[in-house]
Amino acid sequence: MINPNRVIQQFLELVQIDSETKHERQIADVLTHKFTALGLEVVEDNSQAETGHGAGNLIATLKASEGVSADPFLFSCHMDTVTPGKGVKPIVGEDGWIRSDGTTVLGADDKAGVAVLLELIETIQEQQIPHGPIQFVISVGEESSLRGARALETKYINAKFGFAIDTGGEVGTICVGAPTQASVKIEIFGKAAHAGVNPEDGISAIQVAGKVLARMNLGRIDHETTANIGRFEGGGATNIVPDHVILYGEARSMSPEKVEKQLGEMKETVEAVCRDYGAKGEFQSDVLYRAFRVSEEDAVLKIAQKAASALGLSGTTFTTGGGSDANVFNGLGIPTVNLAIGYEDIHTTKEKIKQDDIVKTAEFALEIVRQSVTA
Ligand SMILES: [Zn+2]
Repeated sequence: MINPNRVIQQFLELVQIDSETKHERQIADVLTHKFTALGLEVVEDNSQAETGHGAGNLIATLKASEGVSADPFLFSCHMDTVTPGKGVKPIVGEDGWIRSDGTTVLGADDKAGVAVLLELIETIQEQQIPHGPIQFVISVGEESSLRGARALETKYINAKFGFAIDTGGEVGTICVGAPTQASVKIEIFGKAAHAGVNPEDGISAIQVAGKVLARMNLGRIDHETTANIGRFEGGGATNIVPDHVILYGEARSMSPEKVEKQLGEMKETVEAVCRDYGAKGEFQSDVLYRAFRVSEEDAVLKIAQKAASALGLSGTTFTTGGGSDANVFNGLGIPTVNLAIGYEDIHTTKEKIKQDDIVKTAEFALEIVRQSVTA
């Protein structure tokens, strides 16, 4: 039912349009043109004013076919990619996988999803497949902690449930949960002194930070909780006792209470160590997005699983440690699952996806449209 050649060509075209996070202008214009050419009404929301990214989020709406009354729902993908994402040259291997030339990411995350959605619309229209109202929400800045989706102008959204297409895993499997994520920023202020003349008058912020890190509980905290310090900034000349260090990190858990607890412990560690060494510590944290878990009883999951079984796909559910725009939609009260599209090694220059998986995901999305009408 899907045109395999066309969806792969679409994908290859999209990945060659630069769209690193915060530089989404060009891809947003191309997508606006593509959705408009397919007869959809397209709005670019005003989120750019808040995010400072390259464009706003796109909301393209496909009206229900005549005589069909069904609840509106949405598909969600993102248009931005991580770095290095400029000048992507996709290579279609004889083994059926598509990769970059090894100098950039491929951008299957998440242009494979976007290509699937465009193919879905073309197929629906060509074959006049009855469908309810469908919104296609293509966000900017998913890779900057869901910045775009978090600033989405919700007045444009009337969907009652949704399907993101933005996770690894076997096509036909369904992500039904993801954690709360909080960002962490720790500043340590010591006291500068000459390292050779009077080091005893100084307090080394780097050394204090080291003691903080040695004492802090990081990595896997329990089966659903993780914490990480990912960046360390500070210091200067080697002959000066450094007086300032900044640490950036995060904490995640399926349980919001456990995130709070972890943040509390991280803060206490900073304060206790700084007290011991006469330094000053500042701890800031910010909940970026909230955990979600879609239940077996939710209509959205039932539709996805019916569609999977109609195609002989597994329909198995799983949870992940990574956030996606599905976190934001669930937070808005729009139950949203995340469909696996089979990309691998994302956020690296080894990123790859099987041609077959792009085609299969398009078939899966089409079957979801069918099931949502009969549901
Ligand atoms: Zn993604």
